[in-house]
Amino acid sequence: MQPLCSVNAPTSANDERLDGFVRLLSRYFDSAAALVFGVGAARHIWASPGLGDARLARFIDTRETSPTTLVWPLQMQEGVRLGTLYLHFDPPRTLDAKQHEALQDFAALALDLLAREAQEARQRHEVAALHASERRMALAIAGSGTGIWDRDITTGDIHYSSSWKALLGYADHEIGNRIEESYTRVHPADLNYVRATIQAHLDQRTDAYEVEHRLRCRDGQYKWVCSRGKVVERDMHGKPLRMIGTTTDITAMRRLSDQVQQTAALMTDLTNEIPGMVFQFRRQADGTSAFTYVSAGAQAICGLSAMQLMQDAQALTAIVHPDDRMAFIDSLQLSAEELTDWYLEFRVQVPGREIVWCQGEACPRREEDGSVVWHGFMTDVTERKQIEAELQAFATTDFLTQLANRRHFMRQLEAELARLQRSTEQSAAILMFDLDYFKTINDRWGHNVGDQALRHFAAILCTQLRKTDTAGRLGGEEFAVVLSEADLDQAMHFATRIQNELAKAPIMHAGEPIFLAVSVGISSLNASDASVEAALSRSDIALYCAKRGGRNRIEHH
Ligand code: GH3
Ligand code: MG
Ligand code: MG
Repeated sequence: MQPLCSVNAPTSANDERLDGFVRLLSRYFDSAAALVFGVGAARHIWASPGLGDARLARFIDTRETSPTTLVWPLQMQEGVRLGTLYLHFDPPRTLDAKQHEALQDFAALALDLLAREAQEARQRHEVAALHASERRMALAIAGSGTGIWDRDITTGDIHYSSSWKALLGYADHEIGNRIEESYTRVHPADLNYVRATIQAHLDQRTDAYEVEHRLRCRDGQYKWVCSRGKVVERDMHGKPLRMIGTTTDITAMRRLSDQVQQTAALMTDLTNEIPGMVFQFRRQADGTSAFTYVSAGAQAICGLSAMQLMQDAQALTAIVHPDDRMAFIDSLQLSAEELTDWYLEFRVQVPGREIVWCQGEACPRREEDGSVVWHGFMTDVTERKQIEAELQAFATTDFLTQLANRRHFMRQLEAELARLQRSTEQSAAILMFDLDYFKTINDRWGHNVGDQALRHFAAILCTQLRKTDTAGRLGGEEFAVVLSEADLDQAMHFATRIQNELAKAPIMHAGEPIFLAVSVGISSLNASDASVEAALSRSDIALYCAKRGGRNRIEHH
C-alpha cells in the first residue's frame, strides 16, 4: 500500500489547485468523498475534507469500480499513468450520461494538474539536489581554508564569502566590500606585485590570475595566501566586467617550505665549508647515473662547478687519470653490486692544472626503485700522497747513491723470483759487485772521496740498466744487480761493460784521476730456488772467487 503522505511534501500553487479540484469534484457530484492519487514524480494524495486515514486507505484499496466507489485511471495519451481519481458515493449511485461527460472533463483536468505537479516535483528535486551539492561545495571550500571572492570591476565592489572573511578572522559584517579597502590588507611589500599580476590578467596578458602574497588578518598578523582568479565577463570591447576567484591560506605550507629551505641552506652552507667535495650520487636501475647533490668544493678538486657535475656526472669520469679510470668505474660497480663502502684513491687530471690525487669515500644504499644512492665525499690528498711517496722513497732508497737499499733490493729480487716461478721459461741473473781496495781510497783521500767513488760507481751502473733491471746497494762498497730475462752470458757482458766504463772513467780529485776497479760474482736466479738468499749467496761465492783470483775479475757460480 502506498504511503498516505508524499515524501516530497508539495507546497506549490499547483498543490493548492489540486486540493481545490478534489473539493470541487466532491461537491459537483455530491459524493461522500473525492480523491486524486498521484504516482511517480507527483506521488501524493489529494482528498476532499472529511476523510479519515482509515477510510482513505480503504478507498485506495478499491481496485475497480464498485457501486460505492468509482475509480478512474488518469493516463496520458502515451500510456503513462500519472494517478487515479476516486469518487465515493454513499449510498451507491450510477452516473447518467451527462455526469459521465462531466467526469471525463474532470479527469482531463486532473490529468493536466497531475502532469504539472509531476513537472514541478521534478524541478523541486533538481533544485534540492543542486542546493545539496552547493552546500557540500561550500563546506569543502570552507574546510580547505579557501574563501571565494566576486569582484564587480565596473563598480569596484567586491563580495567575499563567509569562509573568506573567516580566513582572516572576520565575522560576516566586519568587512567592507570595496576593492580599495581590500588592497589595504595586502602586505605593503607585496602590493605592487599583486596589483601588477591582476592588471596583467585584466589586460588579457595572462589566462588566469594567480599570486602568493600576505594578507593582514583582523588581529593584525599576516597570513600567506594564494589568490587565484579569472575574469568571467567582459564587454564587447574586451573590457573586464566581473572577476571571480579564490583565496587559500598557505601559511602552514609556506612555513614548512621555509623550514625546508632553511635546512637545505644550512646543509649547503655546512658542506660548502668542508674542504673537499660532499656529494650524493644516484645510479638508476637502468644504469644511468647522476650527482643529485654536490658541494661547492667540487671546483677546487675537479675544476668543475657543482652545477656542472650535477648536470653531467660523466664529466668527472672524463677527467679521472686514464691509468685510474678503469679502477674508478670498477670500484663503483662493485660497491653498487655488493653494497659495500666505496673507497678509492685516484688521480684527477684537469687540463692546464697539476694532477690532483683524490680520495673518494662513500656509503651506498639501495632504494625501493632499485637505484643505488651513495652519500660521501672526495678530498684532495695530493700533499699526503707526495709525503707518502717521499717516505716510500726514503724507506726504499739508499741515500748516498739513490739506488735501492738492501731491503728494497731484496724485495725486488723476491718479485723477480716469483715472476720466474710463474713462467719457468724465463731466467734472470744476479750480479754482485765489490769495489777493489776501497778502504785504500778512504785511507788515502778521505771519506768524502770514498763517498764520491760510491756515487760514481752507482751512476755507471745506472747508465747500463734496462728498465726491467734493478740495482741496489747492499752495504758499504757492495752492490748487486738483477738482470731479468738474462742468462749467464748476457750477465758476463753486462759485468764487462761496467768494468770497462769504470776503467774509462776515473774519478777526479785535486786534478788527479783515481781509477776504480770492481770484482763481480755472477749466478743465475732459477725458478727452482727456494729463496733469493740462496741465489744471492751463490753470487757471493763467485765474487769471493773473483777477489781471490786477483780482483778486477768476473766469476760465475
Ligand atoms: P777488497 O778489495 O777486499 O774488497 O778490499 P776493500 O778495502 O774494498 O774492503 P774492506 O771490506 O776491507 O773495506 C771496505 C771499506 O768501505 C771499509 C769501510 O770503511 C768503507 N765504507 C763502508 N761504507 C762506506 C761509506 O758509506 N762511505 C765510505 N767513504 N766508505 C765506506
Ligand atoms: Mg767489501
Ligand atoms: Mg772491497
